[in-house]
Order: sequence, then C-alpha cells, then structure tokens
Amino acid sequence: MVNTTIKTTKSQEIFAAAQNLMPGGVSSPVRAFKSVGGQPIVFDRVKGAYIWDVDGNQYIDYVGTWGPAICGHAHPEVIAALHEALEKGTSFGAPSFLENVLAEMVIDAVPSIEMVRFVNSGTEACMSVLRLMRAFTNREKVIKFEGCYHGHADMFLVKAGSGVATLGLPDSPGVPKSATNSTLTAPYNDLEAVKALFEENRDEIAGVILEPVVGNAGFIPPDAGFLEGLRELTNEHGALLVFDEVMTGFRIAYGGAQQKFGITPDLTTLGKVIGGGLPVGAYGGRRDILSMVAPAGPVYQAGTLSGNPLAMTAGIKTLELLQKPGTYEYLDRITQKLSDGLLQIAKDTGHPVCGGQISAMFGLFFTSGPVHNYEDAKKSDTAKFGRFHRGMLERGVYLAPSQFEAGFTSFAHTEEDIDQTLAVARDVLSSL
Ligand SMILES: *Cc1c(COP(=O)(O)O)cnc(C)c1O
Repeated sequence: MVNTTIKTTKSQEIFAAAQNLMPGGVSSPVRAFKSVGGQPIVFDRVKGAYIWDVDGNQYIDYVGTWGPAICGHAHPEVIAALHEALEKGTSFGAPSFLENVLAEMVIDAVPSIEMVRFVNSGTEACMSVLRLMRAFTNREKVIKFEGCYHGHADMFLVKAGSGVATLGLPDSPGVPKSATNSTLTAPYNDLEAVKALFEENRDEIAGVILEPVVGNAGFIPPDAGFLEGLRELTNEHGALLVFDEVMTGFRIAYGGAQQKFGITPDLTTLGKVIGGGLPVGAYGGRRDILSMVAPAGPVYQAGTLSGNPLAMTAGIKTLELLQKPGTYEYLDRITQKLSDGLLQIAKDTGHPVCGGQISAMFGLFFTSGPVHNYEDAKKSDTAKFGRFHRGMLERGVYLAPSQFEAGFTSFAHTEEDIDQTLAVARDVLSSL
C-alpha cells in the first residue's frame, strides 16, 4: 500500500490557477508549503484519519485541519447533527439554546472558566481577551513568549511563531509600532526573564498570555515549575494569567492543559476543537472579569455570526464524543506509539532528532535538542525536515508543512495507521 510515485497533476493545475486568484494561492499562508518546498496537494474530501486529494491519492492525516478534527474528519454523528441543524437555518443572530448547551459544556470542562463568550476564531478570542485584560487591570502592557502564536491581531505579531517564522517575517509590515510597543516578550520556559520584566514594569503589566504547551514553534512542553512560577508571579504583581488553549483545549485533556498540569489561569481562550470543524472561538474565565464584557459591562466586543447554530452544533457533538470513557487514554496511547516510534527510527537511521507528545499532540525536531524554547527549535535542520516532509507525502502520509508546527492525531487513527506511518518513516529516513 506504500505508494512512492504519486501523480498530482490536478493539484498542480488547480494550485497554479489559484496563484492568480488569491495571494500565494491560499487563504492562510502555511498551506502554501513555502517552508518545505514543492507544491501543496489540493484536497477533495476528508474522512476519519484520511485525506483524498483531487488526483485521488489517499493520505493518513496528522494535521487534522490544524487541530479541530480530534474525532476524525467528518465523524458520522457530527455530520448527522449538522444535517438536522441545517434544516432549522444557518444563522440566527439572536439567542439560541444551543449556545447555553455548549457554554455549559465548556464551563463544566475547563477549570478556570465560569463564564464564556463565543466568537468565530482563535484570533478573535485572543484579541478580545487582551482588551478585557487591559480593561480589568487598567494596565496596558502584556507579556507574551517568543514563538507563541495568538492569532494575527496587531498586538500579538511580535515573535509570533509558526506562520510568521515559516515565512521568515520578523514582524509584519502594516503593524504600527503603537500597536506592539506594549507587547513585551520573553523566551519560553524562562521564569527569570519574566521576573525581570515585572520588575522593570512595576504596576504596568496587565498580564501574561501563553500557550501552556507550545504548538506554534513546533511542540514544546512547559518545564517543571514554569506554569506554577507564572501563576505565582502574576498573583504577586496583580496581573492576570491567560492560557491560550486554542490548540491545547480539549486536546491535551478534556479540560485542556490547565487540567493536565493543575494550574488555573484567570482567563482562557479556546478555538479549533470546540468548533468541531466549523468556525468557533471562545474566551472565558473568572465571573468577575467576564462580567465586564458588553452588554453586562463596558468592554465592547460583538459578532454577527458569533454563536452560530451550525458551529454550536458541531462543537456540542464533538465534545459529546470526546466525553466517552477511554478517549484520552486511547489518544495518548497511539500518539505515544507514533512519537516513540519516530524517535527510535530516526536513531536507527542516524538522524539527530528530539521530540515528544502529550495526549493527541506531538512533535519531532531535526536537532539533537533539548528544545525548551524557540531559539532551541530554530537549531533544527529545516532543509532536512523539508525532504522528510516531501518523502512522507509522496508515500501517503500528510504532515504539517513546517518544522515549526505540532502534529495532531485523532481517535479515528488506528494502530494500523500508526504502524503504516512508522513503516513509511523508516523508508524515508533511511533514504535521507
Ligand atoms: C490556531 C491558534 C490561534 C489562532 O486561531 P485561528 O482560529 O486560526 O484564528 C491562536 N492561538 C493558538 C495557540 C493557536 O494554535
């Protein structure tokens, strides 16, 4: 079943035409494969753990539409629920009971969340949470970490990880200095640097925002004591701690990284999984803070399609599926098998690598490591990663097209899928 010579004529035609229609031929930059070289494949359909491209080639997928597909693509129960919801209309722009249902599920699941506001993307959740942080503390400065991505809003486009890193844009043109001069940055896993920023900016820092497990600089877990240290520092300085769990929420554990590590932030952003493949983001947290959001309070934030009934339906059904006993044990088991297998094969074939996994999130860097932050991650041999990526793709395994992205599994991935992926990886790594 290992196919080594795939035909991608139709993909190439469609992507060539797309170049004239949309900047770079895509609707989001990393999809264009710039950092791994070669042409992207153009998708026709997705189901379970698999993708089919427009030329009819089949791939085992480890991107999962960048995280949402944790139940596998097009899960029959999600699709059935959507069909039913579709009959009742595609958008209300008014209160619906579905919002209560998903809100209750999110509040029950995520330890820090007492109240939640739904938006349409992770970007929107992060830009809204920043406004709320500033309003609540009456302070303007915010600390983020190098290599962490919090969406593409101006204030966060400073050392912003994967998409930006992939394209080698230091910052983005068009972002005014005034938008980022309140954004302070520190290396991930470096508590001393954060401490120093708090000392230098006494009573000026609204809060700290981070990916509790980094996925946007490749997969980087927090060192022991890092999250605890941030909780203590923010408490000590009257600042808020915000976990951006857009990627890790409902993936690292049902209650996210905050449940897994037992650290409760003040505010949390969500996205990806909670939309079950439709556009949903959310921010939530302490009741006293969320009560400041309009119309309960003065902090303005709104959305025509926010709380959309189709999106709520996909989210509700996805979370229901994730509640089945054994789900996270299974995700952890197959992902560990994949991660351990890749590390072993790289060792057997003489490639210096490092990596790991937590639950359904994994990563592999082409450097001997260890990788504690973005500087370490950048030591990776990205040219080799590009060849590895291409080799895997040509043999039917779809990995994220950048060294600086995490990999994702779903509970639709079987032991056989993992075995086949590892066989392909051995084949590819032996030939690099
Ligand atoms: C994907 C992501 C975002 C942005 O979400 P979009 O829905 O792409 O706007 C923000 N933060 C993190 C941690 C993410 O992984």
